[in-house]
Formats: sequence, C-alpha cells, structure tokens
Amino acid sequence: MDAETIDYLQELALPIEKTLGLEDKHIPYYLIQRNEINAFVNQKNELYMFTGLIEKAETPSEVLGVLAHELGHISGKHIFKTIHSRKDFNLPVAAGMLLGIGALAAGSADAGIAVISGTHAGIQTAALSYNRAFEQQADQIALEALHKSNMPMQGFTDFMQKLSKDQALYSRDMPQYLLTHPYSSSRTEFAKSFIQENTNTAPLQLNQDRFEFIQAKIKAYRLKKEAVVYFFPPKNKAQRYGLAIGYAFAAEKEKALNIVNDLLSTDANNPYLYELKALILEDHGHLQQALTAFEKAHHLKPENQLLRLQYAESLVQNEKYMQAIPQLLRLRQEQQRWSHVPHLLGIAYGKMGDLGNSHLYLAEESLLKGDRKNYAFHIQMAKDKVTEQTPAWHRLKLLQESADASKKSK
Ligand SMILES: [Zn+2]
Repeated sequence: MDAETIDYLQELALPIEKTLGLEDKHIPYYLIQRNEINAFVNQKNELYMFTGLIEKAETPSEVLGVLAHELGHISGKHIFKTIHSRKDFNLPVAAGMLLGIGALAAGSADAGIAVISGTHAGIQTAALSYNRAFEQQADQIALEALHKSNMPMQGFTDFMQKLSKDQALYSRDMPQYLLTHPYSSSRTEFAKSFIQENTNTAPLQLNQDRFEFIQAKIKAYRLKKEAVVYFFPPKNKAQRYGLAIGYAFAAEKEKALNIVNDLLSTDANNPYLYELKALILEDHGHLQQALTAFEKAHHLKPENQLLRLQYAESLVQNEKYMQAIPQLLRLRQEQQRWSHVPHLLGIAYGKMGDLGNSHLYLAEESLLKGDRKNYAFHIQMAKDKVTEQTPAWHRLKLLQESADASKKSK
C-alpha cells in the first residue's frame, strides 16, 4: 500500500467516479505489489490494482482506461449478478494488509508498499471472471464516462490491444487480467468505433510527470538495490527518484538523502518525498529526524490516512503517546480494517500505564487478525482492569458481542 500511488489512482479516476455517481461510495483502492498485469474489483466494491499493470502501461491514459472499466463493473453491479448466478462461488476472504513501514534497507521488500496477505491462489480466486456480456457492458459504461468527463479515451483501446497481443504471445501464461476480463476482438471494434463517433476535442491533460514518478517508484521497489544499476545515470527527475529508492535499498543513506533533498529543493510541497526521506532516516535509527519528516508529509496532505498512520507510528516510536493517541483514534474511526491502528493504540496506552485500554485495543487487533487465542487472553486481561460503566467497559461489551457474532457466523 503506497500512499503516493493510491492517491494518484484515486485522483485519476475521480472524474469517472463523479460521472458514474459512485463518488459517495468511497470506493477503497488497494495496490498489490505483484508483477502480474491485473486489476479487479471484489464483492465489497474495493478496487485492486497490481503494480505490474502500472509498470506495463505506457501512458496514464492506459491506466485510466482500466480504472474506468473496473468502475464500469461496479456501476453495472456485475459482481453481485455474477455471484448470484454461481451458487458454488465462495466469497473471497477479506484481504488483510501488512503495512510495510520501515525496514527499507533491511531488505524487507514491502516498505511503503503493502502486501496483501494470503496465498497467490487466494488473490486469484478473489478475482471473479466475468462473462462477455458484462465485459462489453463495462467497456460501454467506461467509454461513455470517459467521454462525458472529457478525458482521453485512446489509452483504453491501446491497452486492450497490447493485452491481446500478449495473449497471442503467451498463450499458456497470459496476463491475469485477461483471465478475469475475457478479451474479444468485438470489444476492440466496439471501443474503436465509439471513440471515432465520440471524439473529445481538447480532453483533460493527464499529469505525465507524476505518472513517471510512480512508475519509477514501482520499478525501484521491484528491483530493490538493483535499481541503482537500472537508474544510473538518471536522465530525469523520475529516474532520480527511482535511483534514490535504489540507494535506500542498498543502505547508501547519504546518497539516497542527497537525491531526495535535491528533489525537494524544486518540489518542496511533495509529501511523498518527505515520506521517503522519513523512511530512510527511520531505517537508520534517526527516529527524531524521521518524525520531523513524517510530520511534514502528514501536514502537506492531512486527509491522507496512510501518511497519518506513519506519522502516528513515528510519534509512538518517539514516545510521544499523548500526541499519537488522537491521531490513531481518528484513524480507528475512518479505517476499521487496519489492525495496525489498534496495535499502536495498545502500545501507546500500555506505555502510559492504562492497561485496561491497552489490552482492549490489543484484543481488537487480535480479533481483526483472526487470532482467537490472543484475543481471549487480552479480553481476559482487559476485564480485570476496566472499571464498570466507563467508556472502556462499554467498548469491551461491544467487542465481545461482535466477536461472538462473528464466531457464530462461521
Ligand atoms: Zn472486466
């Protein structure tokens, strides 16, 4: 899960969401760090994008085309209709998230980009395959929305054609996207004629620079320290960004920081540059300096939940629990599925000596992770510490009720 990429995708797709009336659904976007070319929406109307697809795309308009198509599936309620037509279909387990914060140079690959827990097969079965009628319909919804939003449509057909070429090349190992979104030549024909009949004169310009930054970042996270070789010598800002990440993986702290500071000198309001700076500093044990950079990133984009979480975690690391707790409580309201949030709350309350709240939040964390044993332990501990009729006591009751309910439904 990478704040920069997720922000980018959501901003890219926002006009389409508005046109389709999906804005109020607050569709969550998730990034999966895998080389496969794939994207899908699940039955919870969550949108999953694979890093491989972004890397493979040549223009932002190609990524936009895929996003528009996926939103077309949501708008057409295709998942609901597909599930109900297939009685044997098992609902995919909600994908958990591991937030890979820190440990850049230590070789933990997922720093800054989250990994969806579960097996390879789990991710694939989470993606439904649609029938051809739904594919055509999603295309039509997507193209009409692109047209109405005055956005470029060329990428839509470009990407489709690229995939169909791949399909011919890799008949055995074709892009996952084609397995879940069956391709047919009639789809391309339809898209082409739609674009011919509905040209957008002066469509909105998509930000190519930001797209290149994101591609460089994704590539650097895949190549890790090899990115130093790949991006050297850097020819533009995006490549310097990739090189800085490569140096970070190679534990070349000074070289990495020099590039980041240099990029900041002309792009001082870029929160993700501060985020990278903070991750590098944190990795080398400079916790206080890391906090300053995380705080800056958070202030530049205060509504971003991942940047807020990293800031809060850094506050906990710096033993600033009183400041961390309000940030974490706000995240707890906004993102009920992140087990890392109650984890940090459990630590913060524990360090402050409030053991009742500490065990209560650690119980919540265990419940979110499906860890019954630790849940039972922390609930028992919390019961002994929490005073009756206090807010914590009411939360304890609620937590037990929801745990009992989820046990019965299994
Ligand atoms: Zn599709």
